[in-house]
Amino acid sequence: MAEPAIPTRMAFQRLPFDTETHLADVRMFQQEGFGAVYLIDDERKAIIETGTSGDADRILEAVRSFGLKPADIDAVVVSHIHLDHAGGAGFLLPEMPKAKVYVHERGLKHLVDPTRLVASAREALGSEEADIFGTMRAIPADRLVAVKDQQRLELGKHALVFLDSPGHAPHELTILDEHTRCVYTGDAAGLYFPGDEILMPIAPAPAFDLEKNLETLQRLLALQPRALLFSHYGPHTNPKAAIEAMIIAYPEWSRVVRGKLASAGEDGVLRELYEMTVRAAKRYPRDFLERRIRVSITGLAAYHARMEHAARTG
Ligand SMILES: [Zn+2]
Repeated sequence: MAEPAIPTRMAFQRLPFDTETHLADVRMFQQEGFGAVYLIDDERKAIIETGTSGDADRILEAVRSFGLKPADIDAVVVSHIHLDHAGGAGFLLPEMPKAKVYVHERGLKHLVDPTRLVASAREALGSEEADIFGTMRAIPADRLVAVKDQQRLELGKHALVFLDSPGHAPHELTILDEHTRCVYTGDAAGLYFPGDEILMPIAPAPAFDLEKNLETLQRLLALQPRALLFSHYGPHTNPKAAIEAMIIAYPEWSRVVRGKLASAGEDGVLRELYEMTVRAAKRYPRDFLERRIRVSITGLAAYHARMEHAARTG
């Protein structure tokens, strides 16, 4: 069998276009090539994304096997506060005494007290899927930094610029590295399945907003980045094509859910979206991809219900 093009060992591996930027596959949800955590090994050390609560130990192990101590980490950045991005943060911090967690100003209070966030995730995901997404541990307020649009984080050679990027969630950030001109997209640009080369919208309940997500995609396009660094999963080196594909796919998915959910049911819509988007998948199992699609069907249905309610009540 041919070697996979994307590093899949549970260790940080250098990205081809930069000497300080590294990627580890945390095998989120037991799936290879789905949960990416990035390390920038500059004068100050930053970790971008923290996976789920279940991924924290593997992240610590990856930091150690890279040759750093977790205590060397200065900054932990979460793109947004969903459990598969910020869930690991509260479990990493006791091992990273120097580190501050950088989070969108709208998300900060939920990391101080995650009770409502965890409950709302359970409701949106259903209990079986919620168990897989794990939990959260409260983070003391003095370990958190509330991030605003255009705020900078200087690491040395690298400087990160945080960009308010609503749509997937109101507390979503994308992060431009001015040194590499790459953008960490969180979930703002959807999901990328390397190898299969699939690009898939991700539109979760309770707060997905199509119009805002499309504005965010336009903002990313205007940056003319050199690569997109997806949290799910890894670098995409043709950003223009990827973003333009998403600008088409999000409204298409929205139309299919709106037009057919009542008549075809969730399973019918799932079949249609699967055919449209991921029919050619080989590396990623069908069941795994279907679970991701179901999250968006639920989220788009909630979005349409909200829009209709707003139209009725003026
Ligand atoms: Zn995610």
